[in-house]
Amino acid sequence: MSLIRKTAAELGAMIAAGEVSAAEVAEAHLDRMAEVEPKVKAFLHVDRETTLEQARAVDARLKAGEKLGPLAGVPIAHKDIFTTRDMPTTAASKILQGWRPPYDATVTRRLREAGLVILGKTNLDEFAMGSSTENSAYQLTHNPWDLTRVPGGSSGGSSAAVAAYEAPLSTGTDTGGSIRQPAAVTGIVGMKPTYGGSSRYGLIAFASSLDTPGPFARNVLDAALLQEAFSGHDPMDSTSIDAPVPSVVEAARNGDVAGMRIGVVREFAGGDGVQPGVLARFNEAVQLLESLGAKVVEVSCPSFASALPAYYLIAPSECSSNLARFDAMRYGLRVGDDGTRSAEEVMALTRAAGFGPEVKRRIMLGTYALSSGYYDAYYGQAQKVRTVIAREFEAAYQQVDVLISPTTPTTAFPIGERADDPMAMYLADLYTIPSNLTGNAAISVPCGLADEDGLPVGLQIMAPVLGDDRCYRVGAAVEKALESRWGGPLLKEAPSL
Ligand code: GLN
Repeated sequence: MSLIRKTAAELGAMIAAGEVSAAEVAEAHLDRMAEVEPKVKAFLHVDRETTLEQARAVDARLKAGEKLGPLAGVPIAHKDIFTTRDMPTTAASKILQGWRPPYDATVTRRLREAGLVILGKTNLDEFAMGSSTENSAYQLTHNPWDLTRVPGGSSGGSSAAVAAYEAPLSTGTDTGGSIRQPAAVTGIVGMKPTYGGSSRYGLIAFASSLDTPGPFARNVLDAALLQEAFSGHDPMDSTSIDAPVPSVVEAARNGDVAGMRIGVVREFAGGDGVQPGVLARFNEAVQLLESLGAKVVEVSCPSFASALPAYYLIAPSECSSNLARFDAMRYGLRVGDDGTRSAEEVMALTRAAGFGPEVKRRIMLGTYALSSGYYDAYYGQAQKVRTVIAREFEAAYQQVDVLISPTTPTTAFPIGERADDPMAMYLADLYTIPSNLTGNAAISVPCGLADEDGLPVGLQIMAPVLGDDRCYRVGAAVEKALESRWGGPLLKEAPSL
């Protein structure tokens, strides 16, 4: 089997055993990228020489007897919102065009320490605001299942790269669904760890109380291995949790759900706007879990319906404050600085030219929600909704170990379909946002193809704070049972490539 078809765990084992070098593995993936990138456009930045240099350095470290982790030498696609010393970092915004960060994000640093080889930086919605990657200031990324459709977002470059077999692993960030939703619509695994379980240091901030780095992979074990590689306490992030990382790899290898209590969120299973094919695959997954010995009960969380409106007050509020740092003085773009204009004029011109329409919409929404006289009515009220949702989760987790729902209401939608309709776009995250508001863990695993369009459907498994291992355990059980039914992974090849 060719190197690009292997799992990350298999590649890591082959490299450790000296059967293949990290440089050869990197080269195979770079060749694949050269072949399919013109169609997929998952990457914003690729530098073959830098990648091969990294790979050779890992080979040298291994040869010198250095003990690296199970992913040493494995290539990875890295979302272009994490700072990287040796590659540009743009967050897919014109305002950061050409910026070279002077430092590595903690996630980047830990990838390097574990010997992962960065293949390049992947496309995203500008500053991670969106659900289709169409808000990138640079390019459209295409879904490898159907090139006329979106790969989800905001981490759509990362999901497409893995689904197109350009990389076995990639990184993402999930503020409202940006890992789980793109994973679901490209037929791969994507995990949002517990908030504070993975470091935000060096991650360009969108909404700081929600932003969470996490892994993408084509199977549950690979995702767990990657999460373990970059997780854990980081003193550079003030909200990083100083507690042991849940044993996600062990859970992914275990995959036994016998006796587990699983709650189906009534409001998200059969509600309005769910595509029939998505619902059908979800219901089958519920039956499957029952047949594997889990005890399935229905759970009601009525306030989950208010999560989306609350999110669209909280996230823009935080973004309006975070994005104030792009002031034309410190980073990237500077427009109109010809000696005749004041700093304020240059700042205004730069921000007008450098930010795209969705980013401007969010800044305006957030500034409004935080303004005096409106703060309590909007931002304050949204924070109260957040508390009510947390209480409902808490009550539910008294009864069950995990909650499940479809990851998204629909499969991948056509490029352009929702681009001019922000409300339709926002609805893609209806089911993912509650876990962001409360910081809980949640994963999306493939659960089949919708009958109407033959496109992948994701199953979302949610767990309490620091219950990441439960997501992997249930995810592994579903994966194992379905793969024996399908005769291998759902994504055997990227169908339209
Ligand atoms: N789609 C959501 C938004 O546009 C979530 C994005 C994310 O998780 N980064 O805000």
